[in-house]
Amino acid sequence: MSAGGEREGGGAARALGQSQSPATLDAEGIVFLGPGAFEIARYRVDPPGPGEVRVRMAASGVCHSDLHVLDGHWARPAPLVMGHEGAGWVESVGPAAGGGPKAAGRPSVAAEPDATGAASPGPRRGPRVGDLVVLAWTAPCGRCAACLRGEGWLCISPAGSGHRRAAGDVRIRRPDGTALGAYSGIGTMGSVQVVAADAAIPVDPRTDPAVAALIGCAVTTGVGAVTRSARVQPGQTVAVVGLGGVGLAAVLGARLAGARRIVAIDRLPAKLDRAAELGATDLLVAGADPSETAASLRAIRAGWGEGRDGVDHSFDASGSIAGIETALAAVRPGGTTTLVGMPPQAARLELDVYSFVESGARILASNYGSAVPSEIFVELARHSVEGSLPLERLVEERIGLADVAAAFEALRRGDGARRVIIFAQG
Ligand SMILES: [Zn+2]
Ligand SMILES: [Zn+2]
Repeated sequence: MSAGGEREGGGAARALGQSQSPATLDAEGIVFLGPGAFEIARYRVDPPGPGEVRVRMAASGVCHSDLHVLDGHWARPAPLVMGHEGAGWVESVGPAAGGGPKAAGRPSVAAEPDATGAASPGPRRGPRVGDLVVLAWTAPCGRCAACLRGEGWLCISPAGSGHRRAAGDVRIRRPDGTALGAYSGIGTMGSVQVVAADAAIPVDPRTDPAVAALIGCAVTTGVGAVTRSARVQPGQTVAVVGLGGVGLAAVLGARLAGARRIVAIDRLPAKLDRAAELGATDLLVAGADPSETAASLRAIRAGWGEGRDGVDHSFDASGSIAGIETALAAVRPGGTTTLVGMPPQAARLELDVYSFVESGARILASNYGSAVPSEIFVELARHSVEGSLPLERLVEERIGLADVAAAFEALRRGDGARRVIIFAQG
């Protein structure tokens, strides 16, 4: 995340906004205290300022990225309310900030392979009170070079950046007045948050809130990696390494894209069954040596009657070097490996350059599914409501705030799909 700065003229406008807005609300959430430490704490939430909305959180996923923060693999400031994968209902809307919906980046849909049906229904409207909204951890600014290229997922100054820690951005405080940040501007592991209106994407209100939460990170990341970053075509073959929430979403994305064969690979045999339920056609337990795993995969492929080359597309959703090496070894000459999982910040990859160049293969990096949140969130929610994507099967367990420590521990073990915090309403 880039460092945040106070926006021009924000102070005066906010003072006006506060005088017109509803009262401060009490809330409760998971507060990151520094590497290795968090607490469940109460906090107070200001009314929304111009261009902001206040959201009663319905659900928040517990993502591996949160674990990277907690375990100190990613340097992040403290204290802040954790979480970046959430959905909730708009409780109040700040005073008009001026300007309508932003041209926050065209989606790259020219050769869209995911057959998501109808085109976008025109410029999206802003969030209104009562809307079910999916929160985006990158809310494109609509003005930077990346946004103007139509690549909003690479925005360099998203709304709410700097984890809302700059003096003018703080909207939540401990009861003693101490400022709290909100992770990625949305801090979804808190029961109430103020977020940028551009980060709150209204979706079909019939969407299961737990599913809506997962659309905010894992589902968009996994499905988008397949359909938008790699642009898998109908009839192609795919391998997915690492079957957590993102990897399972990639399996679903491969099915949506019409992949003919989907090989699911994980070091934990128990995780393969879920992938099979979601559409994987072949299952492979990853061994300690990536080249052995790749050889097993080529044997599987030979079983399809197609020789011993690798697959057309491989994806690493594990974020581990062994997983990435497996994905690289799994692809055929001229094929594409897409890196999706996020490793610790210090991770480095060794590459046999001679063999790689000779292979004519490609390595892609996929960030937030190469998708503009305001477009893909709506599409994915529609798929869920219509039953064309069984996203509810990514939910391993619905938990309360008190269960978050156990959920982090399960993530460390690599156990299960997604655990989702459900917030009590009222
Ligand atoms: Zn995430
Ligand atoms: Zn931008």
